[in-house]
Amino acid sequence: MIASKLPNVGTTIFTRMSQLAMETGALNLSQGFPDFDGPQALRDALSWHVANGHNQYSPMTGLPALRQQVAAKIQRSYGVRVNVDMEVTITPGATQGIFCAIQAVIHSGDEVIVFDPAYDSYEPSVELAGGRCVHVQLDSQTFTIDFNKLAQALSPRTRMIILNSPHNPSGALISRAELDQLAQLIRDRDIYLISDEVYEHLVFDGVAHASVLAHEELYQRAFVVSSFGKTYHVTGWKTGYVVAPPALSAELRKVHQYVSFCGVTPLQYALADFMAEHPEHIDELPGFYQAKRDLFCDLLAPSRLSFTRVTGTYFQLVDYSQIRPDLNDVEMALWLTREHGVATIPVSVFYQNPPQEQRLVRLCFAKREETLRQAAQKLCGI
Ligand code: PMP
Ligand code: GLN
Repeated sequence: MIASKLPNVGTTIFTRMSQLAMETGALNLSQGFPDFDGPQALRDALSWHVANGHNQYSPMTGLPALRQQVAAKIQRSYGVRVNVDMEVTITPGATQGIFCAIQAVIHSGDEVIVFDPAYDSYEPSVELAGGRCVHVQLDSQTFTIDFNKLAQALSPRTRMIILNSPHNPSGALISRAELDQLAQLIRDRDIYLISDEVYEHLVFDGVAHASVLAHEELYQRAFVVSSFGKTYHVTGWKTGYVVAPPALSAELRKVHQYVSFCGVTPLQYALADFMAEHPEHIDELPGFYQAKRDLFCDLLAPSRLSFTRVTGTYFQLVDYSQIRPDLNDVEMALWLTREHGVATIPVSVFYQNPPQEQRLVRLCFAKREETLRQAAQKLCGI
């Protein structure tokens, strides 16, 4: 019998639902990834670098050209300057960056506050560091932070708070005013932040993303994480980055150098080239995904699903209580996949204590128009 270090962990819901979609031939709107390719110029750049000898280790902190492009993107997006050498670290995926940040600062017995519904990788990473997650529920309608609940959850052992905005799975955003409120609440405490901003460029309706990078006070204690996978439509490239003040970056790098040492070299070259040549890509992303959101939501309007259009991410939550109130969301996700050919993600799996009355599943709209039309047709027929 193996004494598991993660006894409560199974295979992730993303793997399970994508697998079921494949087995049943259902349209896969579950796991978050585009069913279209990243930009041709980006893929061509990768082929070029593979063919032209960029196939050995990159520097441990990441290719300098890519770190420079990240800093340029940050300045363009948020008007702040970060030190390319001391504050930017390229990681093989945001997931790895989050893991390393947690291992770097969480000691045995430390508490980490996560907001439910919470992305699934946070808690196992905290547990492997010997810490414990304290779950604070977001508002069940708006998915915003309840600052009274947060204040009550703080203890002398609280060492970290993990933020995620734009939020997976709800698409909600944390506002600048809420960041200010958070800063005030933790001002005199020794608490680090992870700000998971992998969907930072997927924000709609003219709303601005309030990045922790642009919050001078919070940034001093933060690891800000992003993912090239989401921004450049290449989730399978598993390349991300962590931006943190020099002292925190130094601790992060101590872990990162032994988890993976560095990211994949030709991918970093390709991303650096593409970002240098196409800085407008990030300006066009909100419109690109907003059009998909609106198409999908318009197509779903006649269905018996109810929803409010999301402000960020490429996920749309829908309430199915007019269709099968008798099913919980895991049962519903299985039923929708098997009986109606559309795979979704149940939301309860992101909670420690899922609200029993909640009837929500998550649909990914990072799909071609044809896929969205087919999915909507199936969903409208139920
Ligand atoms: N955080 C959130 C909230 C995510 O949705 C994802 C998507 N997979 C990640 C982190 C991980 O990103 P990556 O694929 O770059 O590891
Ligand atoms: N972030 C993606 C999602 O929310 C999944 C990533 C994964 O499969 N680990 O669907």
